Amino acid sequence: PYDGPPKEEVIAMRQQFLNPAIFHFYKQPVLITNGHMQYLYDEKGRRFLDAFAGIVTVSVGHSHPAVMKAAADQLTKLQHTTTIYFNEQTSLYAKEFVERMPKNSNLSRVYFVNSGSEANDLAMLMARLYTGNNNVVALSNGYHGTSVGTMGLTALHTWKYPVAHGEGIVHAPCPMSFRGTHGDDVDAYVRDLNNVIMTQTSGRIAGFFHETIQGVGGGVPLLDGYLPKAYEAVRAAGGVCIADEVQTGFGRTGTAYWGFENQGVTPDIVTMAKGIGNGFPLAAVVTTPEIAQTLAQRLHFNTYGAQPVVSAVGRAVLKAIDDDGLQENSLRVGARLMQRLKTLQDKHDLIGEVRGKGLMMALELVTDRATKVPAKEETTVIFERLKELGVLIGKGGLHGNVFRIKPPMCFSEADADFLCDALDLALSEL
Ligand code: PMP
Repeated sequence: PYDGPPKEEVIAMRQQFLNPAIFHFYKQPVLITNGHMQYLYDEKGRRFLDAFAGIVTVSVGHSHPAVMKAAADQLTKLQHTTTIYFNEQTSLYAKEFVERMPKNSNLSRVYFVNSGSEANDLAMLMARLYTGNNNVVALSNGYHGTSVGTMGLTALHTWKYPVAHGEGIVHAPCPMSFRGTHGDDVDAYVRDLNNVIMTQTSGRIAGFFHETIQGVGGGVPLLDGYLPKAYEAVRAAGGVCIADEVQTGFGRTGTAYWGFENQGVTPDIVTMAKGIGNGFPLAAVVTTPEIAQTLAQRLHFNTYGAQPVVSAVGRAVLKAIDDDGLQENSLRVGARLMQRLKTLQDKHDLIGEVRGKGLMMALELVTDRATKVPAKEETTVIFERLKELGVLIGKGGLHGNVFRIKPPMCFSEADADFLCDALDLALSEL
């Protein structure tokens, strides 16, 4: 049972002492005090089905027994040193981590950090050092972080402050079906990318950043067939290709362990965060030995990167994904979810598009399917109603009219059905 201060006090203290930029979901906020696998509990013991996983972060399940044990065991032995000494957990984690990279790749050197923003900053630095070029290209509607560097990679005005950020970064239009400037014409988006390189950079670039399915931007999968052609264009301009797998990695798409594998490409640098640590502050940049070497020309250091407890947790997460069959589960349950959501789309005109892969799904709500006017208010009403019905999902997209469904990967078919039944009810009540 919960023995902390009353909910009203918790809310009041947060409002008084935390920075007001830290936003929250729901008109009547929820206080979450416990979690187990795909379920969350509030202070009164009410259970919620968690279909957002702390923003795609709790990959293997809340308080997963094996992850808890790994953290507890390591805490009793050694809580912290830094990489200036050797520790077996960090070395074992690096080895087991690199073993998960695609077999045909040369992605064999990892640098562990603490957040996705940090990982992308480091990737951008390595791309510049390796190529000797400065310009970086990212995609419109993408999200890569909030640091001064990665705010520049992010291409959603809602996340950008009116200060100098992301020096040397330009954007190419995102190859997206529903709201893209060229519909499904992959070659047109590749021409756009080449135009951006030719007109907004020196013609020689350091690198190209992309998510394979955009997360914050509203669960937008890049059109099939785009990445092989984009990688060719980027490499012809001297750049390296950087896949941001912060949301799409670790089996979530079901059809592959890494999101980029779905388009048959091999990046030169891959960044990860969120699901890699199941909620512990852990992120990574993996690259080739040649690119990694460029960082060794100066001192580089990160106090918490791959510290012993976090490394032990990271190892337990990798093992849980294998032992619990979570990639296969994402594939199976994701297929069920997709089928049920498509049926809801047939029934409810408000659902403009259902998209995604595995357990990374999105529904975009529109007031009119022809004009695609974002159904912002309706999205908010349904979002609040789902919470009342016991289902927590995510919201996103530039217009705030996209539901994001990205649960812990232990989500079951029964959970998918419960979510869809609740959604059906909420939509019918409108
Ligand atoms: N890249 C992607 C694709 C993300 O979704 C996020 C976080 N939403 C980040 C990078 C930044 O990660 P962090 O919040 O850990 O800095």
